[in-house]
Amino acid sequence: MANKEAVKRYRHEYYLKHKKDSSLQSQEWYTNHLDGKKLSSRKERRARKDEWYTYFKEIGKNKCFICGYQKCWAAIDFHHINPEEKDIGIAKLIDRRMTREYQKELEKCIPLCRNCHSELHRRLYLERTKQTEWQMI
Ligand SMILES: [Zn+2]
Ligand SMILES: [Zn+2]
Repeated sequence: MANKEAVKRYRHEYYLKHKKDSSLQSQEWYTNHLDGKKLSSRKERRARKDEWYTYFKEIGKNKCFICGYQKCWAAIDFHHINPEEKDIGIAKLIDRRMTREYQKELEKCIPLCRNCHSELHRRLYLERTKQTEWQMI
């Protein structure tokens, strides 16, 4: 614990001491050593995400199909209407380049927020097993 504190203090002091030139240095370092590679790939990823989001909006799949939730993308999944097929994690999807195949896959899915998605799967399970739900109230 004490050691951790010391490291933290050291880092802070180091940061204060080198604050001015480290920002310059890193910028130079990026241009010289990475040849803009890392920066452009980050940019590319960002562009890819934007492309996906625009597409979701275009096809009206930018919010939860059941409750309309659209606050945070991390809480949205694509639920496959065919239960045999696996759901798509949106986080994984938007990291990939958009292809016709993915677009076709999306046609078979509806966007659901985590709450509605869990409820739906629970309801499907209960129907399948012919059980009734216990209430949380
Ligand atoms: Zn919902
Ligand atoms: Zn699902």
